[in-house]
Amino acid sequence: MRTVVKVAKKAYKSLLLKKRDEILASTRSEPEALSAKVQSSDEVEFAVRTVEQDVTVVTANLRSQTLKEIDKALARCAGGTYGVCEACGDEISPNRLKAIPWARYCLTCQELRSRN
Ligand SMILES: [Zn+2]
Repeated sequence: MRTVVKVAKKAYKSLLLKKRDEILASTRSEPEALSAKVQSSDEVEFAVRTVEQDVTVVTANLRSQTLKEIDKALARCAGGTYGVCEACGDEISPNRLKAIPWARYCLTCQELRSRN
């Protein structure tokens, strides 16, 4: 039983690293796309492009937020507290970790927090 848990946690760690790589790769490819969009003198087009950029900025913020969470989760992997809810100390369910490998709280605690 203990071994099974250990193997599973290794799998989550590789999930985290994979996701981290994905985010870093997409962050690197974006600055060029951004500057390409600004080069337009057409005002209407510029307005449209500005909206597109806002979306990009929001996505970038979300991405850096996720990156931070992933780094914290990797630190918990190293510290041996990965998969444990930070609020109640229970094990976070494997299904939840599969969906959000960087989850800090169990579903119950997460729901309580989002309600407040
Ligand atoms: Zn909890």
